[in-house]
Amino acid sequence: MSESVSTPPPGRSVLVTGGNRGIGLAIALAFVANGDKVAVTYRSSSALPSGILGVQADVTDAASIDAAFTKVEAEHGPVEVLVANAGITKDTLLMRMSEDDFTSVVDTNLTGAFRVIKRASKGMIRLRKGRIVLISSVVGLYGSAGQVNYAASKAGLVGIARSLTRELGSRNITTNVVAPGFINTDMTAALAQDTQKQYLATIPAGRFASAEEVANVVRWVASDEATYISGAVIPVDGGLGMGH
Ligand code: NDP
Repeated sequence: MSESVSTPPPGRSVLVTGGNRGIGLAIALAFVANGDKVAVTYRSSSALPSGILGVQADVTDAASIDAAFTKVEAEHGPVEVLVANAGITKDTLLMRMSEDDFTSVVDTNLTGAFRVIKRASKGMIRLRKGRIVLISSVVGLYGSAGQVNYAASKAGLVGIARSLTRELGSRNITTNVVAPGFINTDMTAALAQDTQKQYLATIPAGRFASAEEVANVVRWVASDEATYISGAVIPVDGGLGMGH
């Protein structure tokens, strides 16, 4: 007796967290242009361009991550490319930073990445291949006054990528960090004009970047052109963090 089994469409199964806007959406669109099957997580706004599967998830909630992965796996097959992009800021000077300001940023940016990586790695190990890209920040290695919480969370991603490279590198799974500088999105639009001017003065490129300039690098490091790169921190910062 023949049984009909639904076969997922061709292309890799890609999941981008926080892909409903900003850098995450640009990354998702870059993978769509590549011919991949792309899913993004969103928390509230599910209005997405066609060709992208939206799944609701909060990276601070392991159960919602598990449910999102289950949906993606059913539609697109096991996740082969994971981009941990979801992130928040709660900037303030140390003296004013509450413990909750610190732990909530770390819970989203660092522990959130741990949660999605852990869930994705099971399928990647079974597939015997996988690409993990963690969206950090120039601030993770450069430091930034008023961002002790954010910088700690972004530096932590480097430790995750390098440890995972040692754990999973022999299984055809690469883990890399992309560290953007100042990118034009909602996150940076929220900064005071004076702060934006100060940043601009220190960027050798003399300008901020578009989200697409980050997305192109993420797509590349997850492509067959970058099979032997793992545990790397790739800056996309116009030279801002040179030497770090
Ligand atoms: P935005 O603020 O524009 O978007 C943030 C994204 O993360 C949104 O999709 C948001 O979802 C999602 N998100 C936040 N918290 C959670 C959560 N708990 N669970 C699930 N999703 C969540 O930021 P950017 O696009 O600018 O930044 C994207 C990443 O790039 C971040 O990790 C950021 O730290 C990093 N980055 C940004 C730089 C910049 O200059 N813009 C520079 C360096 C790094 P929702 O819409 O539901 O809020």
